[in-house]
Amino acid sequence: MSWFGIEGHDEIVRRFQRAIAQGRIASTFLFLGPSGIGKRMFAERLAMTLQCEKNDPRLMEPCGKCMSCRQALAHEHPDILYVSKPEDRAFIPIDLFIGPKDARRQIGLCSELAKKPIYEKRKIAIIDDADYFNLEGANAMLKTLEEPPKNAILILIGTSAARQLPTIRSRCQILRFSPLEIPVVESILYQKRAEQLALAESVAEAVSVQKETKRTGKTAGKSVGKNAGKSVGKTAGKSASKDGAGDVIREELIPRIAAHSNGSIQEALALADPDFWEFRNRFLRLLAEGVRERDALVGEIDQQLESAGKVPALRRARLRVMLETVSDFFRRLSFRLSGFQPADGAASEEWRVLLETAVQSWPLDAEGAASAALKTADYLELVQRNVHQPTLLDAWIDEILRIRSGDLAAFLFAPWSLNPNP
Ligand SMILES: [Zn+2]
Repeated sequence: MSWFGIEGHDEIVRRFQRAIAQGRIASTFLFLGPSGIGKRMFAERLAMTLQCEKNDPRLMEPCGKCMSCRQALAHEHPDILYVSKPEDRAFIPIDLFIGPKDARRQIGLCSELAKKPIYEKRKIAIIDDADYFNLEGANAMLKTLEEPPKNAILILIGTSAARQLPTIRSRCQILRFSPLEIPVVESILYQKRAEQLALAESVAEAVSVQKETKRTGKTAGKSVGKNAGKSVGKTAGKSASKDGAGDVIREELIPRIAAHSNGSIQEALALADPDFWEFRNRFLRLLAEGVRERDALVGEIDQQLESAGKVPALRRARLRVMLETVSDFFRRLSFRLSGFQPADGAASEEWRVLLETAVQSWPLDAEGAASAALKTADYLELVQRNVHQPTLLDAWIDEILRIRSGDLAAFLFAPWSLNPNP
């Protein structure tokens, strides 16, 4: 089932439906779950549902057409307030909650929430990045969280309970969002691909109409050209390639991307770049040949993480795929050395060639290769735990080089000794 394009969280939809029907909806929520699985979109649709002027919120079906719904969709609803961490700040600045020093308690989220709603229903605040409350910000919000203004609803969005300040956590009703099932991720990616294709098509059409208009000097099709011209500027300017396909997700990559997505659409999209998979294949060949050049390798990995963008979750997605690849490599090498077939069926010709090379270049027996696979899995766990990425990457590459030089004492090194991020 899909709730307004939100897949995989039906149980939470039903919980809200019951709570609204019984008139027992709480006033402060904390949505928790990995990033990129639809928590924010859920909060926005919920706000729209509660504000819709036409449909009863118990239906959980905002009409999408009334003024309130249209404003909500455009993020211009006067009674739906948004707060998130600015990109260049380490925490959500206190000013966003209670105004700057010279206007304390006069502007900011808390005083906005206390105002009378324009639509006479309620004010709703969506606070993204709740992982980034500092003590000052949390203290400023405590009173509002404890006793929100009449009918107001606050929705905080974070990743894990461990990352929330106890003072905040204890004042909210916590709702946990699970990572999406792989088939759900796959179907969303196919939908996205269809949307991208449709967009690319309309852009191409508009361009040809514009050309035609220029050539004939006629004005027919002007409005099409105008509208589509806008989208050219917005999307194609950044991404469309010469063939007009732009950033359309490649169909053949979808099952692979979904399998590595960790149940997050955001992470899946970070893996949609075909260049990344070409790099991954190159990396696998380097690995099979026995990694020799440390700096070149680290440089190239850095570049791959860089191009995932600034969002840590996206870099993490790429690093995770690389570690999964290495773990898989050692596991297969172990099978090869012990003469067994891996459980997941006949190895492809590509793997066969890689493993032949690897048998020559790695000083490992079956057991050693199995330990290397397990060791890599330890690092994989650290990636999930948000350990500082450059430190992790350095330690991991050193480990690989030690293993290759036949120093199995490398297995004594405990990756757990790396400090997690603050
Ligand atoms: Zn509506």
